[in-house]
Amino acid sequence: MIVSGQGARMTDADGNRYIDYVLSWGPLMLGHCAPEVVEAVIEAAHKGTSFGASTPAEADLAEQVIEAFPSMEKVRFVSSGTEATMSAIRLARAATSRKYIVKFEGCYHGHSDALLVKAGSGVATFGIPGSAGVPEEFVKFTLALPYNNVAALEEAFAKFKDQIACVIIEPVVGNMGCVPPKPGYLEAVRSLTAREGSLLIFDEVMTGFRVSYGGAQELYNIKPDLTTLGKVIGGGLPVGAYGGPATLMNQISPLGPVYQAGTLSGNPLAMAAGLAMLKTLGTGRKTIYPALNALAGKLVAGVSEAARANGIAITSNQVGSMFTWFFTDHEVFDWDTAAPCNTELFGRFHRGMLDAGVWLPPSQFEAAFLSTAHTATDIDDTIAAARAVFAGIHG
Ligand SMILES: *Cc1c(COP(=O)(O)O)cnc(C)c1O
Repeated sequence: MIVSGQGARMTDADGNRYIDYVLSWGPLMLGHCAPEVVEAVIEAAHKGTSFGASTPAEADLAEQVIEAFPSMEKVRFVSSGTEATMSAIRLARAATSRKYIVKFEGCYHGHSDALLVKAGSGVATFGIPGSAGVPEEFVKFTLALPYNNVAALEEAFAKFKDQIACVIIEPVVGNMGCVPPKPGYLEAVRSLTAREGSLLIFDEVMTGFRVSYGGAQELYNIKPDLTTLGKVIGGGLPVGAYGGPATLMNQISPLGPVYQAGTLSGNPLAMAAGLAMLKTLGTGRKTIYPALNALAGKLVAGVSEAARANGIAITSNQVGSMFTWFFTDHEVFDWDTAAPCNTELFGRFHRGMLDAGVWLPPSQFEAAFLSTAHTATDIDDTIAAARAVFAGIHG
């Protein structure tokens, strides 16, 4: 159990301190208790925690999001990434009058029924096909295809001609470990969906404001039809969002027939936290992202070298400040190449690092993150810890 966090560090109930590379599974770009975020939340709390009506903070955060993501003309706030993807899919089905959806093996889009098919994150970690409690009838319109495979998508579009409402994708996967798109893959997904009249949903819950300020769509210069956000935009409080062109977003209630609502959506505390975080990231984006990504590169390379020096095969994937060390000697580009990694070795590495005061994601199939609170010394200490752990495994 964790009792507190400060900057790049967390303290557990026994008083052990850890350098944190999980960062609440991604949101904490500025580390724990960033002063501007804490102050914004306190100030908002003094004004009232919820009204069931819009507040200026909600409009301010919306503007900040739209400015960073030009593909989003309008944005709707919800309270989690799960709600964002679930709602975006409902909208896509309504807008296209089609039933089928395409997702990719190893991608995780939250825990709504239709999306718990060959999912990543915890579902991948526990090696289960989906989840108990989801009747197969509820997922019969979900097609799960291999990631980074254009031919498989072509085939699905041929087989289910004019029936696929949308393709939802993590433009950089974080939920089977970090898996980048191959060069040209996202471009192909974009042009195929456009050709087939199917909407493209970029699930940027993890990548938004993380791999670059404007997310993966800015990094790879691809314009999806709908975008889902979460994690970083909440500054460590519960927020999700989805958005796109007004023609689509106006189909949502109360303007249109697609129902979606939330008692605590746009919650003032969450909006204040998100706004404070995005302001800092937005103002400093020209220096923050390059510095963070370079530091992540140093960490990724240092740990990989430490493994190889001890005869341990490792493949490291990194995009910006998202990264994974896969215990394998082959390239990892989809679920079938991620799954056979040596999870027993991963477990020994993870436990060794934990004992050395380094908190890494407790699964081979989850990405690690860096925050602006991590220092070059933290990185050096982490690499030194890895060297000792690998030497122990080797010996
Ligand atoms: C975390 C995550 C979600 C789910 O968000 P929650 O806030 O946990 O519901 C959805 N999609 C992606 C890509 C995620 O990383």
